[in-house]
Amino acid sequence: MKKYDLIVIGTGPGGEKAAVKAGYFGHKVAIVEKEARYGGAEVVTGTLPSKTLKETALFFSGKYEKGLYGIDRALQHTASVEDFMFRKNYVTETEGAEVEANLRRHRIDIFRGVASFEDPHTILVSGDSQERISGDNIIIATGSYPYHPPGIPFDGKRVHDSDTILQLTRFPESLCVVGAGVIGCEYTTIFATIGTKVYLINDKDQILPFVDHEISRDLVDQMEASGIEILFDTSVASIEVPPREQDPIRVTLKNGKVIEVDMFLFAAGRSGNIKALNCDKIGLKTGKRETILVDETYRTNIPHIYAVGDVIGFPALASTSMDQGRVAVAHIFKTQDLEHLPSFFPYGIYTVPEVSMVGITEEEAKEKNLSYCIGKARYTDMARGKIMGAKAGFLKIIFSRDTNVILGVHIIGHIAAELIHYGLALVEEKKNLYDVIGTVFNYPTLHDLYKYAAYDGLSNLTGHKVKP
Ligand SMILES: Cc1cc2nc3c(=O)[nH]c(=O)nc-3n(C[C@H](O)[C@H](O)[C@H](O)COP(=O)(O)OP(=O)(O)OC[C@H]3O[C@@H](n4cnc5c(N)ncnc54)[C@H](O)[C@@H]3O)c2cc1C
Repeated sequence: MKKYDLIVIGTGPGGEKAAVKAGYFGHKVAIVEKEARYGGAEVVTGTLPSKTLKETALFFSGKYEKGLYGIDRALQHTASVEDFMFRKNYVTETEGAEVEANLRRHRIDIFRGVASFEDPHTILVSGDSQERISGDNIIIATGSYPYHPPGIPFDGKRVHDSDTILQLTRFPESLCVVGAGVIGCEYTTIFATIGTKVYLINDKDQILPFVDHEISRDLVDQMEASGIEILFDTSVASIEVPPREQDPIRVTLKNGKVIEVDMFLFAAGRSGNIKALNCDKIGLKTGKRETILVDETYRTNIPHIYAVGDVIGFPALASTSMDQGRVAVAHIFKTQDLEHLPSFFPYGIYTVPEVSMVGITEEEAKEKNLSYCIGKARYTDMARGKIMGAKAGFLKIIFSRDTNVILGVHIIGHIAAELIHYGLALVEEKKNLYDVIGTVFNYPTLHDLYKYAAYDGLSNLTGHKVKP
């Protein structure tokens, strides 16, 4: 039996980065992957494919140019679904190859097959053949899978989850999306951008409940302006899928409304991929929604076994999974370079328009009884915004009334997920409004949003218009 310093299960962002870091520090590492393609949900079924489809939708719909030239070019229907999927497939294939190359560069042994525990140090890999490998340490990075509630007849053709929606062979004329979390909202706006009539079913009274409410309300306004119908405070009572593809799917909602659509996407909730692992056999403690329980160093109840990424639950992002993998390796091999994740990390929501945030929301500030104030700047007021033809979007800073220290930054608009990183540094380093005002940015850039939001904040604080 081959013996390793570390066995990693799963080649998603959590597993890849953990394995590569351990290899970089000279340890003998094996990684096990059950799928033919490397990279997990980040590369194959989630992060990168969905972001590529968003860019492709914007490109084909002419939405990038719409603002610039004032021309509302409808979707170029000459674009086939193959054209639409072309770049997604290209990105998935090349990024998957890059994951493999990175593993091989770091001399990681790759095993293809399903990993399960035989005992706390032995992993059985069941692929074309069966092989046992032994690890002094093990990191579980098996990710998550989309939740399938009873009563939804998923078929991967017209009734989809967030994995199968990526294998469309034709554009839906109309689509009912259930779930107004990140994945549901992203796909809602992507399909609306390519011209599909989209209904978003949301069992709450707002979308993206963890986002600052002013931002989520603005997103709702912009979604509705683009023809999306959002049905709040209701959920699906039943769904009927007719045998003939040309007949509509009938979705009956709990509020009595009936929607007839071409396709259906259920995008609410994910559970950890632990079934195959045999956790019970070795006494590994698990939690709700098939997650593995870990401490702040990502160590499980069995001291040499760690778990990172979606399989441990919140925040379940590619960005955080990567660093959780690196942190786990730092603790296992005492590399002393990355003891924990930073206290703040940004959220990027790749809707159309994009949303991104870091730090506290206004609702949290109120809940905590903080003495706070806000400052805002609009894309349409910035020179760069005008050049780009921005029609909407704003940046909002939340700061302490007493110290001017910036507590949160929230952005809705073009490249919000890129712009947020300056906000991340401000929040992380406890910078105040004068630090922003005293910084010189390239001009014209959208970073001016920060400066003018800071001036606006000072105006709101003093009640006097501060002249920037
Ligand atoms: C539609 C969608 C959009 C998203 N967008 C974003 C985004 O914009 N930004 C962001 O940061 N995150 C995003 N995410 C989340 C992100 O994809 C995940 O958080 C991330 O991929 C989790 O990484 P992971 O390494 O934990 O697991 P995964 O990426 O799920 O990888 C797990 C790997 O383990 C393998 N595996 C599972 N069980 C076994 C086993 N028993 N044996 C062997 N191999 C096994 C799987 O095949 C898989 O390759 C998105 C997710 C989805 C679904």
